[in-house]
Amino acid sequence: MFKSNLVVQHKAHLVELFSSVQGEGVYVGERQIFVRFYGCHLKCHYCDTPESVTAQHTHGHQPKTFRFEQTPGQRDIEDIPNPTHDTPLADLVSHLDQPKGLHHSVAITGGEPLVHKNFLETFLPILKSNGYQTYLETSGDLAKPFNTIKNHIDMVAMDMKLPSVTKDREQWIEHREFLKVCIESNTTTFVKSVMNADTNVGDIIQAVKIIKTIDSTTPFIIQPMSSFGLAQNPPSPSQLLEWQKIAKEYISDVRVIPQCHKMMGQL
Ligand code: SF4
Repeated sequence: MFKSNLVVQHKAHLVELFSSVQGEGVYVGERQIFVRFYGCHLKCHYCDTPESVTAQHTHGHQPKTFRFEQTPGQRDIEDIPNPTHDTPLADLVSHLDQPKGLHHSVAITGGEPLVHKNFLETFLPILKSNGYQTYLETSGDLAKPFNTIKNHIDMVAMDMKLPSVTKDREQWIEHREFLKVCIESNTTTFVKSVMNADTNVGDIIQAVKIIKTIDSTTPFIIQPMSSFGLAQNPPSPSQLLEWQKIAKEYISDVRVIPQCHKMMGQL
């Protein structure tokens, strides 16, 4: 039987590639290279990257180019044609990582990066062989694709979407399954939930109960929603303090961390 020697080259559409400070979660303040993929299977009410979300565009839309910052922190943007392949993209990451050692890790973000599973299967090993730590930002509901790339991921920033905030269907089963894969694979993981003034306390309790069942030491981050687009309903300081108190009745590591990069005027 004929066997082709053709190597399948996976490609992906990006939105941007740039250097900035991580503004969310337990790694807040770390300098990272952000690889932002185009495409997301969800449409959260509070999404602050609508340019990377499929549902925000006409059917079949894919960005023709992506923004590439050539020098860290300079915002000297060049438009690079989409789609991109794994090796050229890894070369751009290395180009941006100057001086060497400036960046803590490479943030794989979106959109939802896991919708690019096939691309990540070849791209992430190149990043790892180039010496980078990899940090996955994910909606935390796609356990199956994550399972195939988990060995190339060092850190996971996993969302738990609270239905009272997303205004979408609940995803507790998917979140439970995803966190289980993270913990069983010993991937350093924290969970964060965006909360607004309408957050249902029952949703918060459900989230921390899942964490408690799977690994009660996993940090849980309450992230107050930043005002953006349709999302104009941030929680009050007293709500945040009350929710932290309630969550700590179930697990010990519960922190309130707002989106710090926005306070700094960063991307
Ligand atoms: S999962 Fe993230 S990128 Fe996708 S719609 Fe929700 S907030 Fe936006």
